[in-house]
Amino acid sequence: VRNLKKHFEVQKSFLGRSSTLLKAVDDVSFTIFRGETFGLVGESGCGKSTIGRTLLKLYEPTAGEIIFDGQPITRLTHKEMLPYRKKMQMIFQDPYASLDPRMTIAQIIGDPLAVHNIYRGKDRVDRVKELIELVGLKADHLNRYPHEFSGGQRQRIGIARALAVEPEFIICDEPISALDVSIQAQVVNMLEELQERFGLTYLFVSHDLSMVRHISHKVGVMYLGSLVEYASVHDLYTNMQHPYTRALLSAVPIADPDTAEGSERIHLQGDVPSPLNPPSGCAFRTRCPHALHRCAEEKPALKDSGNGHLVACHLLD
Ligand code: SF4
Ligand code: MG
Repeated sequence: VRNLKKHFEVQKSFLGRSSTLLKAVDDVSFTIFRGETFGLVGESGCGKSTIGRTLLKLYEPTAGEIIFDGQPITRLTHKEMLPYRKKMQMIFQDPYASLDPRMTIAQIIGDPLAVHNIYRGKDRVDRVKELIELVGLKADHLNRYPHEFSGGQRQRIGIARALAVEPEFIICDEPISALDVSIQAQVVNMLEELQERFGLTYLFVSHDLSMVRHISHKVGVMYLGSLVEYASVHDLYTNMQHPYTRALLSAVPIADPDTAEGSERIHLQGDVPSPLNPPSGCAFRTRCPHALHRCAEEKPALKDSGNGHLVACHLLD
């Protein structure tokens, strides 16, 4: 992903006369490696779900380049995009809303097979059975409707639907945040097993830093539409450098005593500013305990602080 931007035009006044730009994703670049999980974290509204949707081209990117397996896909038409849609699937945040209540489980899981016109007739029935068992449910559940299942089971159905067309890359958009805590680990463990078994690549969008730590190989931290830190999971959690990352992580209870040292809770001042009117320079400066004069004037670029650990903060200079 190179210099990706997704801006939305938003009506500001009631009469609709003036509009303003919401820079939901503003010049974000990163690489996701095959077979790995890239965890994207940040508070709600920071642009992480928009990135997921833009990668699938559910939103047209405003600028920048998306390259999948060496192929630029940014400007493909809907028809040209079809083979890529088969390789890229999505698991949604809300298993209640993402399954059509009028469709049986068999229809829901079989739907992508029909869209891509694969596994016809009896093969499709067998494939759907195979998928439901793959996610730990029983074949005799197939003629039931979504409301007959618990939240965790529904998310399993959503995962089976995503896996149906044998994708290579899955965007998991807060896949566990609507689930009971007791179910969350089961679903995450299942995603990990599926990754291993099928060599899947994930973009795992979440505001849950301990879950991201558990599942990810690389992690990106977003604030108001920009990536502020990017590193391997080990580097990020043992040597976090951006003041925002430090504050986010300091709020998470730490189970690992190696990283517990100096992990005093940092209280950020104020709320996240409106993305319609972000601060000049570094967007984090209104809440940053270390802000300098320069921070108001110049947006810090994402720079390598060593080992491919990227940080966007003037303190690095
Ligand atoms: Fe804080 Fe300045 Fe660094 Fe932004 S650039 S995080 S305001 S020190
Ligand atoms: Mg979201």
